[in-house]
Amino acid sequence: MTSTRNKADLFNAMGIGPVWELRSQDEPSKPDAMASGVGLDEMLPASLSLESLQEMVAVCKKCGLCETRKQTVFADGIPHAPLMVVGEGPGVDEDATGRPFVGKSGQLLDRMLKAVGASRTNNTYIANVVKCHPPGNRNPEQAEIEQCSPYLVQQIKASGPKVLLLVGRFAIQTLLNTKKPVGELRGVVHQVTLDGRDIPAVVTYHPAYLLRRPEEKSKAWDDLLLLKQQGLI
Ligand code: SF4
Repeated sequence: MTSTRNKADLFNAMGIGPVWELRSQDEPSKPDAMASGVGLDEMLPASLSLESLQEMVAVCKKCGLCETRKQTVFADGIPHAPLMVVGEGPGVDEDATGRPFVGKSGQLLDRMLKAVGASRTNNTYIANVVKCHPPGNRNPEQAEIEQCSPYLVQQIKASGPKVLLLVGRFAIQTLLNTKKPVGELRGVVHQVTLDGRDIPAVVTYHPAYLLRRPEEKSKAWDDLLLLKQQGLI
């Protein structure tokens, strides 16, 4: 068990001081705010590579988000890395750069990963549930998630991570097929089963939420410890 002092020291090492960033909506979900029901079996061809998948996504017009995006945001980091981080969707900065998790929340994610020996330049692959920026920085709608999540599932299959870190309720609820809020799902290792293979999955709060609610950072640290304890990164 990490002592309070050690935890504070580790937080300092993580650099997640009281920096604040507002998001459009609160992180904790109402149980009915996010339908799950995304059929993980509704998949693309099993042999599709990450490269082919990225080409498909780049020209995708399956949902209305294609009308307002600057570009699709497919992934960042190391393909086939042992750790895969899954977030919700691109924000303004991600839409502009084509990379997931940039800006303040991306910087916090990088510090969180670094604290457990992970990084997008070394052993981590990063993607989102939806690949196009929802206008106005709104949350992705259920129909958009249903259209886009088969790409994510194929992306996980093709990248083949040993462990998943699901950040924020959209990633968590989509891949765990649940409507439960993040707070009820933390603290245990879940399994995401794809093609008969169980992939351990740890859940935590989205970095943008942690920037806005620093009092929750100790829980995020506990989640990162749980991730580290899996011994897969
Ligand atoms: S969000 Fe996904 S499904 Fe919608 S247009 Fe973009 S890539 Fe296609």
